Amino acid sequence: MPTWFTVDTDDFRHLPKHQGHPTRSKEVYAGPSDTLSEAFLVGWKGLLDWMDLHEGALTLFVITDLFETKGFGELLASALERFPKRLTVACHGHTHRSWSAWGEDKAGFESMLTRSTERLKSHAGRAFRPYFRAPSGYIAPWMAASLASKGYIVDTSVNPSWLVKHKTGGTSWAAVCAAMEAAGVVERPWMTRWRLPVNGPALFRFPLSGLARKAWRKAPRLLKPEEERWVERHDVELCTLYCHVLDFARNNGTWTPPLAGHRAK
Ligand SMILES: [Zn+2]
Repeated sequence: MPTWFTVDTDDFRHLPKHQGHPTRSKEVYAGPSDTLSEAFLVGWKGLLDWMDLHEGALTLFVITDLFETKGFGELLASALERFPKRLTVACHGHTHRSWSAWGEDKAGFESMLTRSTERLKSHAGRAFRPYFRAPSGYIAPWMAASLASKGYIVDTSVNPSWLVKHKTGGTSWAAVCAAMEAAGVVERPWMTRWRLPVNGPALFRFPLSGLARKAWRKAPRLLKPEEERWVERHDVELCTLYCHVLDFARNNGTWTPPLAGHRAK
């Protein structure tokens, strides 16, 4: 059971405390910004430098309004050129809206998927894979059929912990998984420990951070580039990990994921 390593491309402005959530956000979505944050640029460089220290495959979950921000399209193109066989590009929404926090809106969700997918295909070409991760993990059962209808074959939004059950639009993680299965979408839930979150923000939030780092150190080897399509197979079990581009900006751009054996070749 190898590890599927995934990275989300949120910049600061995408975070729910800024926009995209009905109660957590202080601002309404005002369109993409003109520039990437300094930390995003540092993190992007750190992520690619870390890629040089291992040989695994990695999927980038891209928020597509970034293509309207100066420089992002070029950054992605040059990363795909540098690691043509090891990077795949997937969908993390167009504006990072927390869909399930707003109630059912199939039409809105589907038109976002159409727009976002078009941009991913035109910028990432063959590196694009129809995989989805819900912004901030806000996923509900009604989203499954919409994903399938837009050609998505893998979802990786489920964080099967009681601590974040409220993100399922008033249902449960089991209901989300059942809806994905009924829609023919492979669900790749995130790794947990003792039913507690250990990915993304949990890596840095005390007291979860200690548990999370320990769990990451025990994670299996990364998928090899030629095994990337295993992600799409119902019969293959994987350990799914995720962090953010911005995480690679921590410690002055020297942070690397706390995996055993992937710090150096
Ligand atoms: Zn995100």
